[in-house]
Amino acid sequence: MIRTRFAPSPTGFLHIGGVRTALYSWLFAKSKGGEFLLRIEDTDLERSTQESVDAILEGMNWLGLDFEEEVVFQSNRFDIYQKRAEELIESGHAYKCYCTPVELEEMRSEQIKMGKNPGYDGRCRDKAEQAGDCVIRLKSEAKEDIIVNDLVYGQITVHKEELDDFIILRSNGVPTYHFAVVIDDNESEITHVLRGDDHLKNSAKHIQIMDAMGYDRPQFIHLPMILGSDGSRLSKRHGAMNILEYKAQGFLPEAVLNYLVRLGWSFGDQEIFTVEEMIDKFDVKNLNKSSAKFDLEKLKWLNQQHLMNTNNSDLAEFLNLHTTLKSKPTTETLISFIEAYKPRVNSLNELLDYFDSLYAEDFIVDDAAAQKFLKATILEPLQDLVVLLDQVEWKPESIHQIITNTCDKHNIGFGKIGQPLRVAITGGTQSPSIDVTITLLDRDNVISRLKQAIQYIGFENV
Ligand code: GLU
Repeated sequence: MIRTRFAPSPTGFLHIGGVRTALYSWLFAKSKGGEFLLRIEDTDLERSTQESVDAILEGMNWLGLDFEEEVVFQSNRFDIYQKRAEELIESGHAYKCYCTPVELEEMRSEQIKMGKNPGYDGRCRDKAEQAGDCVIRLKSEAKEDIIVNDLVYGQITVHKEELDDFIILRSNGVPTYHFAVVIDDNESEITHVLRGDDHLKNSAKHIQIMDAMGYDRPQFIHLPMILGSDGSRLSKRHGAMNILEYKAQGFLPEAVLNYLVRLGWSFGDQEIFTVEEMIDKFDVKNLNKSSAKFDLEKLKWLNQQHLMNTNNSDLAEFLNLHTTLKSKPTTETLISFIEAYKPRVNSLNELLDYFDSLYAEDFIVDDAAAQKFLKATILEPLQDLVVLLDQVEWKPESIHQIITNTCDKHNIGFGKIGQPLRVAITGGTQSPSIDVTITLLDRDNVISRLKQAIQYIGFENV
């Protein structure tokens, strides 16, 4: 059975890069009928925070990246790592090192002076047990270069000269990342390790630990990093914010997943994927080796595509939940509003903003729009419309007809009245076609807004 895991360190928020690793691990397991696990790598007790753990769990939950079994917290497993390290001492693969920081620094400067690669020289390998602080080091006994077999990068060679006796357990009993990750992956029966390519070289260390422990090697799948639009490593200024920030900004989880799945993987030239399609089509063979660039505009575009595919009833639920309106329109009107506005917005928040302003109890007209469009020239047409709208059948076609008639009567084009009407009725310059927009409001409301505009023109322009 294929088993993958996502193993974030809770030392910051969960961002785009981490989510993509989680997504690929999740998709790989799902696409093979396997299992996906979550492990929190909180061995750095000072930098790990509960807030970050909560954000990881909330982010995974929001995105629907569900996992099997209980979450593993490495901080609950210190006794296990200590036991495993001792087993390695007993089997002769590890030893206690009593070197002080000063001694290590001297060793290092000496090596640099001699033109050698700095690294631990193994001087404590045969030292007798003694009192005092010690770390545990793995004996690096590689007789040959280590080959990391990676499904994306192929065979990566790490030369044996680059490998030294590295620390697996610190003097305070806390394991290093390398040791904990190998023990946990083995004990969780992880078959495929997917992670960022910044860990590619670390895998050589992990292989040494695996060999010493007598573990089978998992298959490695390292993922190229994500770059910002300017080609530098993705950072906050490129939009690499907490994944929950995307939720707060009105992105749909399926759009975020769709965006991320294409950031390093492709299936022909298909751009839009439902989550089911991703699971169905995901194949590591189609992972790219080159880094992908983060592009917020594309994410917005995908969000719009997925919004179009979202059920109106789900969007209605969102609006009902988040609106600040005291009295909401009827369900029927709400659905008509969604149908009309959905194609025009890139995010849930934009939809909500339009909703709240269109149906606001204390309706406000944008100042600049009013000055530009509510002019004396359209005073009479608007006055006529007040009368006509009072009688007309409340349907877009009939409303369209009376607007056309009014234009004809005053000898103006539709364009001359459309925008002033829009400003008068919605308060702004953006809306679906004016006849449809009018029907989204009650007749009384439209007439009262028109009268308000007429009054405004009276004061300002005549
Ligand atoms: N905690 C490591 C990280 O966040 C996990 C790397 C791995 O998946 O092995 O980079």
